[in-house]
Amino acid sequence: MQAIVLHGPNDLRFDPEYPDPTPAPGEVLLKLTYSSICQTDIEMWQHGMFSAGGTPRILGHEAAGIVAELGEGVTSLRVGDRVAVENVRTCGTCFFCRKGTSQLCENGRNFGFSDNGGLAEYGVWPAALCIKLPSNVTNEEAPLAEPTSVAVHAVMNSNVHIGDIAAVIGCGVVGLITLQVLQAAGARVIAIDPREQSLKIAKDLGASAVLNPNKVDVAELLPQITEGLRNGLDLSRALSPGLGETESQRRRSQPSEHPTNATNAEIRDPGAIARPVKNGGDSEPSDSVTSATRTPNGPDVIIETAGAPGTALNAAQWTRRGGKAVIVGFSHQSQENNFGRAHMGEKTVMGSSATGTGEYHKAVALIASGKVNVKPLISALVPLDRGIPDGFQRMLKPEKDVYRILVGNG
Ligand SMILES: [Zn+2]
Ligand SMILES: [Zn+2]
Repeated sequence: MQAIVLHGPNDLRFDPEYPDPTPAPGEVLLKLTYSSICQTDIEMWQHGMFSAGGTPRILGHEAAGIVAELGEGVTSLRVGDRVAVENVRTCGTCFFCRKGTSQLCENGRNFGFSDNGGLAEYGVWPAALCIKLPSNVTNEEAPLAEPTSVAVHAVMNSNVHIGDIAAVIGCGVVGLITLQVLQAAGARVIAIDPREQSLKIAKDLGASAVLNPNKVDVAELLPQITEGLRNGLDLSRALSPGLGETESQRRRSQPSEHPTNATNAEIRDPGAIARPVKNGGDSEPSDSVTSATRTPNGPDVIIETAGAPGTALNAAQWTRRGGKAVIVGFSHQSQENNFGRAHMGEKTVMGSSATGTGEYHKAVALIASGKVNVKPLISALVPLDRGIPDGFQRMLKPEKDVYRILVGNG
């Protein structure tokens, strides 16, 4: 069969004659339809991240397929069923699995990481981890259930409440899905990203406000916009607090577009989100100040998905006192915070990795319901034999104009 095989750092090969797999007891053979290329695949290819001890394996952890053959003992699926692949295979018996925190499993295996993945004509995986697709979820949308499950896990970890104001730092695929999952959970969301194309999609997907750190001082504006949303003011007024208006005047003001929502800007500096903070929520205590001088409060929840230098720190700094920052992106660069002042603001900062038990099903259900729209994130369809030049190589371009490229023979 055709397969895209990672042999080591910088050594990715198309193999037209890779041996066909056979399902073990409890597994199914899948005729794979599409797998999407994720930034993590690029990291594995370029930097040797998550190397499987030097063993070559087929990449593709965001995958979907059609059941072609049942392994011994499989009764939950039938040949011909369309499925999304839940890529995390936990042991069920370790300390963390027994506690119900299987995402922390010590013996976890992963489709497309430790085990052969979806960038091939066929694959094998436990039937229990093949999630049957509702008829209205297409083969093209199905691989995006994986990043959706990552977003669901992050939002569950955020403990966001109905009516909360949230911000998403980074509007790539995971960020733009996280925005929608937060909205499905009842939050209003401010999207932050230096790419105008991403901010436009964020607006189309319902973001209450968008901020481009190449154009505005996010540290200064974010708390003002947050308070504006919290108080039900229109955003143009929220940007200019203290104008002396009465409440009734404020209520009468017509909504107008946020001035930072400009279009056609270039991607000048993807790391620019990480500008030094001026009005970070962990500055001086301000309980006793008057309303005229008090610093507005930042978002209740910030989910960081950019993985750019400084963005995890920004998430911690920009969330309100008592708020929560959830870190999903990863960066090679270290980000320092003053833990000598960690008591200030009683903030919670937590990491969120992959997905938890049952959350893949939630992801598929969110796509089926239309609450998560992944269609704007599908940039191209590429056959397997063109996957490296038209998929992986294209993802390397510094100003890439793509979100997910789907690779497969359909
Ligand atoms: Zn991924
Ligand atoms: Zn385990």
